[in-house]
This record gives sequence, structure tokens and C-alpha cells, in this order.
Amino acid sequence: LSFEELGLDPRLIRALIKKGIEKPTPIQRVAVPLILEGKDVVARAKTGSGKTFAYLLPLLQKLFTDNGSKNKLAPSAFILVPTRELCQQVFTEVSSLIELCRVQLKVVQLTSSMPVSDLRAALAGPPDILVSTPACIPKCLSAGLLLSASIDASLEILVLDEADLLLSYGYEDDIKTFTAHIPRRCQCLLMSATSSGDVEKLKKLVLHNPFILTL
Ligand code: AMP
Repeated sequence: LSFEELGLDPRLIRALIKKGIEKPTPIQRVAVPLILEGKDVVARAKTGSGKTFAYLLPLLQKLFTDNGSKNKLAPSAFILVPTRELCQQVFTEVSSLIELCRVQLKVVQLTSSMPVSDLRAALAGPPDILVSTPACIPKCLSAGLLLSASIDASLEILVLDEADLLLSYGYEDDIKTFTAHIPRRCQCLLMSATSSGDVEKLKKLVLHNPFILTL
């Protein structure tokens, strides 16, 4: 199957070609159409499998069409990743795709070293896509920046990337508090290299009848 056959927007296909990517990887082949359909997905996916594009491409495509809602108050997509390096990588990848596709979407990354004033500024606007590590969540929560009614109204997609690592940095309670407030209609995607007790916990917290992909 080609990216076209997966239902991917021509702008994304052209962006991928510019990056030298022409054919979907196995995880992309299965995950992209399911995510485009709006399904919750759990994917057993390692680094190197193409897991980042497996969720980023359909996520962006959904926001292309959602772009009309200009007067929203909070991000439409939230990508939670375990480490600062991955945060930077995902942010760079999203920014590059947005630029190549020439769409008006704003992406912001939150880092734990940012003072609350910077976090507030980053979230004002608001961005369409947020990429963050768990370390930022307690700061945002205590500053009233995350669990607002506006997040409830706006959030459409939540991604938990490398979910097996997300709970291992001591922010379990903050992640639980945050995820417990995710609106029921929000689409949730969980990528994880392994299945562990922690991943099961996260799954129960945020996913509704997910498709489980093991490749
Ligand atoms: P990831 O598994 O998301 O960490 O991706 C690993 C690497 O594979 C990244 O450098 C991507 O740019 C690259 N990649 C992602 N999808 C594809 C694809 N369909 N074909 C070739 N390379 C890809």
C-alpha cells in the first residue's frame, strides 16, 4: 500500500517525498487509516519502526481540516513524550512537516526549564499542537494552564509516545491528574515499545476500546 492508498493528504505525501520517504512502514500502513478514522490506537512500536510519522501524519491531516476553528482557546493536539531529546525531535519533525505542507499550524514545545511566564506565553495564542515532557505538567497544572475548561473544549488528539517510559520519571500522579480530565470524545493514541503494568495503567486511564496493533 502507498501513502495515497492510506488516504493521506497530497500535501503530506509531497512533504514526505521531499524527505526521501516514499513508502509507508508496516506500522504506518496499519495505524494511519485507523487514526484518520478517529479510532483510539495502541501500537507496539519501537524507535526505528516509523512510529513517529505513524501518528504525526494523520494527526496533522486532521488539523488541516480543523484549521477553520480560529477562535479556539486551547491546543487541539497534545503529544506527551518521556524525554527532552524526544520532545525536541518530535517538535522539529512537526515543524518541518508544517513548513513543507505550507499550512498555518502553530506548534510549541514545553520544556521543564521554562519559567511559568514562558509556559503561559507558549500556551497563549494558542498553539494548535503542544509537545511536552511529563516534567512540565505539574508546573502547568499548578499555574492553571492545563486543566482549564478550554482544554476540555478544544483537545481533539492526545498522543502518549514511548508510553512505557512516561510513568518512570516520577510524574505518575501529574500524568494521571491530567489524563483523568481529558474529554471523553478526545482521540487517544498510545505508542509503546513494550507492554508493562505502567502501560496497562495508562491505557485504562485514557483509551476507549482501542485498536491494539502489534507488529
Ligand atoms: P521512528 O521510528 O519514528 O523513530 O523513525 C525512525 C526513522 O525512520 C526516522 O528518521 C524517520 O525519518 C524514518 N522514517 C519514518 N517513516 C519512514 C518511511 N516510511 N520510510 C523510510 N523512512 C522512514
